[in-house]
Amino acid sequence: MVKHSQKSIGDHPLRPESQMMTYGYEPALSVGALKCPIYQTSTFVFESAEAGKAFFEVAYGLRERGPTEEKGLIYSRLNNPDLEVLEDRLSLWDNADGAAVFESGMAAISTTLLAFSRPGDVIIHSEPLYGGTEYLITHFLRQMGIDRVGFPAGTPTASFEASVRKKVANRRVAAIFIETPANPTNALVDIASTAEMARMFTTNEERPPVIVDNTFLGPLWQHPLKAGADLVVYSATKFIGGHSDVIAGAVLGSCQWILPVRTLRTFLGTMAGPWTGWLLLRSLETLKMRMTAQMKNARYVADYLVDHPKVSAVHYLGHMTENNPMFSVYRNQCSAPGSVISFDVHGGEPEAFRFLNALQLVSLAVSLGGTESLAEHPATMTHADISAEDQLRLGIRPSMIRLSVGVEHYSDIIADLTQAFEKV
Ligand SMILES: *Cc1c(COP(=O)(O)O)cnc(C)c1O
Repeated sequence: MVKHSQKSIGDHPLRPESQMMTYGYEPALSVGALKCPIYQTSTFVFESAEAGKAFFEVAYGLRERGPTEEKGLIYSRLNNPDLEVLEDRLSLWDNADGAAVFESGMAAISTTLLAFSRPGDVIIHSEPLYGGTEYLITHFLRQMGIDRVGFPAGTPTASFEASVRKKVANRRVAAIFIETPANPTNALVDIASTAEMARMFTTNEERPPVIVDNTFLGPLWQHPLKAGADLVVYSATKFIGGHSDVIAGAVLGSCQWILPVRTLRTFLGTMAGPWTGWLLLRSLETLKMRMTAQMKNARYVADYLVDHPKVSAVHYLGHMTENNPMFSVYRNQCSAPGSVISFDVHGGEPEAFRFLNALQLVSLAVSLGGTESLAEHPATMTHADISAEDQLRLGIRPSMIRLSVGVEHYSDIIADLTQAFEKV
């Protein structure tokens, strides 16, 4: 039987999908239960006062954990078996030292940014960003005295490096936060050259972390830590959860960078609960097959869209060609084009709305990465907070529709799109 922390059979390394049912869980500790039970408890009983004291010494960093010493369970805001097993399994996909799971993607992002920011700092970030992240940086963090400097996704780092440097001036950079591919345009940011850029902002031997929101392609088709990033964040609500029935988030990285995030999570109380942890454990077992089926479906849908007379443009990574300046970035950091496609219809908002209102199989809803196909209108929904002028600068037009392709039969999705186009 595969033991709970075994990563290989002899010298045959096990792939993450083979470990999603067993890794990090020891049945003997749970009366032999095959599956990890839901540990719906706020607190844990210590065997002795001495054991409780030892657990707290390690938890508060008063001393290092001994080589054979297990991390003690104390209280569910600090740790809980469902979260610990989930964090161990999530770490396998990105080959991370550690992970921290949160009650939402925004809890993961806000806790991470707050962990590295101080008043007077600047956050450098790619544009466009997920609407919630954009709001957090523009409205809340600015109020805390933390400024922002944005740069456009979809262009090589060398083209904006100098202007970013000038805008930062001599202020401390808290973090470089990028989203690639960007939502909803699928524009890419070069992770490796962003990591190079981070070195330019080293002050007092302190380098800002490069944080990548990997929600769109991860954890299967893009591995930012391997490409040079320090932390990867997820809205686990999307592909990781995958069934549109849970809100959750995660952050992964090396010990050095994940530790401050985990510590602040304890004090902000943004951790996920055991029920969320259990749902995500269940989802992880089918992650690879869901994302693979969705990715294959999306190729059929994108190829159909590109030939449709009512479509003026399709934004799909699988259609990128060698003459695109970001083509080598795609080749270097992505292993598949994923399953979120944006496209423009001829016309504007009225035509886009007629199309959306006519869909029958595909639901009209925001979010993405679930088993069902979803469509939405970025300009008036997910990206409504961005001014019309900035929307156009970032390529978010009133004619744009974002489609998250699910696991239905691709010919059924295409039949639905076909009848909806007839109403436009
Ligand atoms: C949905 C999403 C988020 C926010 O995640 P929640 O789980 O909704 O809090 C952040 N980034 C991206 C790219 C997303 O798609």
